[in-house]
Amino acid sequence: MTTILKIALDAVFGCRHSHVTRPFTLRRKTYEVCLDCGREIPYSLVTMSQMKGSSFSGKVSVAETAKAGAL
Ligand SMILES: [Zn+2]
Repeated sequence: MTTILKIALDAVFGCRHSHVTRPFTLRRKTYEVCLDCGREIPYSLVTMSQMKGSSFSGKVSVAETAKAGAL
């Protein structure tokens, strides 16, 4: 029942990505993975937080990751 309710809520409000993996870097991209929906959430090593509203297609996130790796 709880799962059904959660799926319904996710469908209406979208997944809140409250259960995520630890951030990790793969192929020069740093991200967390949501354990509920499987979405990759970009993670900034500069701010040490999830990058809201950005995606991997942007050059900014890659540049940020590269900058953090140089530190
Ligand atoms: Zn999610």
